[in-house]
Amino acid sequence: MSTPEVYDLHCHSKASDGVLSATELVQRAQLQGVTTLALTDHDTVAGLAEARTCADAVGISLINGMELSANWKSHCFHIVGLGIDPTFPPLLASLESMQITRDQRAAKIADKLAKKRIPGALEYVQQKAGEGMITRTHFADFLVSQHHVDTQQEAFDRYLGKGKSAFVATEWPELEQAISWITSAGGVAVLAHPLRYKLTAAWMKRVLATFKEAGGQAIEVVVSRMNADDIKLASHYAMQFELAGSMGSDFHSPANQWVELGRLAPFPDKIKPVWELLN
Ligand code: AMP
Ligand code: MN
Ligand code: MN
Ligand code: MN
Repeated sequence: MSTPEVYDLHCHSKASDGVLSATELVQRAQLQGVTTLALTDHDTVAGLAEARTCADAVGISLINGMELSANWKSHCFHIVGLGIDPTFPPLLASLESMQITRDQRAAKIADKLAKKRIPGALEYVQQKAGEGMITRTHFADFLVSQHHVDTQQEAFDRYLGKGKSAFVATEWPELEQAISWITSAGGVAVLAHPLRYKLTAAWMKRVLATFKEAGGQAIEVVVSRMNADDIKLASHYAMQFELAGSMGSDFHSPANQWVELGRLAPFPDKIKPVWELLN
């Protein structure tokens, strides 16, 4: 009997807010039985070359990916790009602008925290992110390390989440723009974790119509911690808008015992798999 294919098309390395290096991540994926992995760091492709070297060495298939932050009606959405060319110069120029956006936002978040008598955040997150993108996850780790909160979740609930005291509204590219960065780099645009935006069905349909119209081709239908009803609802959206489906863990850290690379519910059989659109 041949070994089953195991797809995990959404995860993070140290190039953004994951804790593993690209090499450690690919090695762990292989140990967990993943046969096709997409590395999808926030707004960067910086981990892909290292991931490729390791994937070739351990014999798993790697899809070049990234997860773009985008705005639509001043709400932030995440768009995964799969099968992109990470050397395409216009894409690299766009991602450089994302790095600037993130650096400027980090300074503003740190200012807001300093005004709340919590100094030193910028130095901490810069050091922690190193060469990688600075994200709110790094700020959450800072707040935990300084005992202002007990958990990352509490950091988002009290300081970093939308409308909280250290939240900074950010000028991400518009949804249509982000999709065009992906498609012009040869990739397939996938709406990430559709149920995490907490939209009503009516708003979900509006954003999906815009996404589809702008060239989006898929939606994540299986993500870690989605239950059977969630998978059904996401699959319903996929069918309604004639989108392919994707699946991924959104793995960030081995410390999160609820999320593991490749550990996902079965892919729904009525849905066209996004990997059939790649190469
Ligand atoms: P950013 O892209 O910098 O705004 O950071 C977003 C990242 O923060 C997400 O990709 C998650 O990894 C993490 N995140 C967002 N909301 C939460 C939350 N409520 N609890 C824990 N982590 C979160
Ligand atoms: Mn993240
Ligand atoms: Mn996301
Ligand atoms: Mn993610």
